[in-house]
Parts: sequence; structure tokens; C-alpha cells
Amino acid sequence: MKYILGGGMSGLIFYLCNRDYKIIAKESKGQCTDSTFILGPRFLHYNLDNLKLLKKLNITAKEKTCSIGYYWHRELLDAHTDDMRREYFDKSRGVNNSVKLDISSLNEGITEFKYFDINFNTLCDQLFNIAKDDIINEEVIKIDYIKKKIYTTNIYEYDELIVTIPRKTFYSLIGYHTASRFLISKSVTFIKVTTTPIDMKDKNYIYIIDHEYPYYRITNYIEYYCVEMLGEIDEVECKKIFKDTYITSKIVKDSQLITLKSEIVLKNVKFLGRYGMHDKSLKIQDVVRSSQC
Ligand SMILES: Cc1cc2nc3c(=O)[nH]c(=O)nc-3n(C[C@H](O)[C@H](O)[C@H](O)COP(=O)(O)OP(=O)(O)OC[C@H]3O[C@@H](n4cnc5c(N)ncnc54)[C@H](O)[C@@H]3O)c2cc1C
Repeated sequence: MKYILGGGMSGLIFYLCNRDYKIIAKESKGQCTDSTFILGPRFLHYNLDNLKLLKKLNITAKEKTCSIGYYWHRELLDAHTDDMRREYFDKSRGVNNSVKLDISSLNEGITEFKYFDINFNTLCDQLFNIAKDDIINEEVIKIDYIKKKIYTTNIYEYDELIVTIPRKTFYSLIGYHTASRFLISKSVTFIKVTTTPIDMKDKNYIYIIDHEYPYYRITNYIEYYCVEMLGEIDEVECKKIFKDTYITSKIVKDSQLITLKSEIVLKNVKFLGRYGMHDKSLKIQDVVRSSQC
């Protein structure tokens, strides 16, 4: 049998283009579970790979421009400098800048980009509807890669395995604990609020670089705003910060990836997506391409 580990956007896209697989997932749709709350700035970038994906799903979507702002010394700017990038890296990763700067910091230096005007979570819902009969909703607790067996409350034998669950988790599941410890990631709290704590003007999302603010990014979704904070911030603390603008929040473990990927080669195992690859620069178009859609 062929299995995909993980039922988030990456696992679902791979399934769309490779229907002879089954998906094993602790939680279907992964980070896209709640269709009324998008976690952070998620945009389907305007390019040929994503167009291919939309065509496969019979979806037409208009082209739009996403504009990004930078809040620095209490001023909203259109562009950023290297100093700002370095400081933002420290703040959003909770490390100091002696650590190698990764290129994904401050959106890879881009100040605007084109995207397909489609709700990220609606797209996920459509992908889920196609895959749902082939999803096994179980948590993987161990993998024996010599015997090629996946353990949940059941045991599944695989010939081919696509891994979209976090690389760190996968290493633990196969008992490769040294490598698992080497890969650093941190939790992020996404907070849904009614109004923005900082005037965003016409920007779709802004990076807040100043350290005096506890949050590091805000996205404008018109009906609500999503604010991101590093770490696991409970509801009481969120309410203290955002007062009566607070609607809800969600903690995503291992969301912020710090180190770059480390490679191991396992026969019949392929890693896919941002978390499977442990590479923060990866986006949906990379998953579409690797899935050979
Ligand atoms: C803030 C943010 C913004 C982003 N913005 C964009 C963007 O604008 N454009 C873009 O193209 N990409 C963006 N990305 C990247 C990427 O598209 C998303 O992160 C995407 O939703 C990730 O999907 P995934 O399937 O790889 O992971 P997830 O959605 O995290 O899915 C992981 C799956 O693995 C399962 N799992 C985990 N452990 C186990 C286990 N032990 N057993 C069984 N199942 C398990 C989970 O239940 C889940 O189903 C963004 C990412 C983040 C964090």
C-alpha cells in the first residue's frame, strides 16, 4: 500500500494528483481546520503551478495584489532595510541574530506580490472533499522503517510513504532522536481580533518589528484581523492584551521553523511540504510541483 502521512494542505494536494494513496492523519485539514479563521497571511501565489492546481479543481479565481507593510519605530513603511530584517528575525524566532538569517525572514524581502483571490481554507475544504473517503483519522505513534510498518492503534504496511507531518515528529516516530533534537521549531499563537491594534492603512499584512509590541505580524481579513505571537499564549493572557477585541485564538505547535532542513535518505520515503521538509521557504506551489500534478 501507499500512504501519505498528514492530511493538511500538502497531504491533500499530493492525494489530488496521486489517487492510489491513502492518507493517515491525526487531524484532517491540519492548520486549515477552521474555515472561519485563517491562521496568518495565507495567499495562493499567482503562478503556473497554482493555476494548474485550480484548473484540476475547476476553480477560477481573479488575480489580486497583496501589499505588505513594515512597522518600525512607530511608523508604517513600504520597504525594509537589512537592520529591520535582522531585528524581525530575532523577534519572530525568539533567537539572536548570530543565528544564520534565513531567507524567508520578512517575506523574502518582497513588498508586494500577486495572488489568486481564493480563501485558503475554502481551497482546503475542496481538497478534503475529494480525499475524505481515503482518509484514516488516526495518530501515528511509531514507524518501523526496516519492516515498513506504520503503527497507530492499527498497523499498516507500506510500499511507499509520503511524509507531510513535521520532520521532527517523523524522526521521533522512527526513533532517530538525535536528529529530532537538532531541528528547532517553536509554537505560535494566532489570535483572531475584531480590530487591528495598529493602523495598517491599505496593507494586507504588516510586520511589527519594534520589540515593545508583543506580536510580530497582523493580517487584515476584512471581517477580522489575525495577530501572531511567538509561543503558547493562553486565552487569559490574550484577553489581557487584546481586551474586548479578542474573539478566539489557536496555538499551533512547531509552526515557526528555526533551523534549516537536515537530510536523511530512507528508501521508499519522500518528504513533502513546509513541515515535512522542515524548510520555512516552501509554499503551496512547491507542493504542487513535487506532487507532479
Ligand atoms: C503563518 C503561515 C503562513 C503561510 N502562508 C503561506 C502562503 O501565503 N502561501 C503558501 O503557499 N504557503 C503558506 N504557508 C505554508 C503552507 O502552505 C502552510 O503551512 C500549509 O497549510 C501547511 O500544510 P501542511 O499540510 O504541510 O501542514 P499541516 O497543515 O500542519 O498538516 C500536518 C498534518 O500532519 C498531521 N500529523 C501531525 N503529526 C501526526 C501524527 N503523529 N500522526 C498522524 N498525523 C499527524 C496533522 O494532523 C495534519 O493533518 C504558510 C504557513 C504559515 C505557518
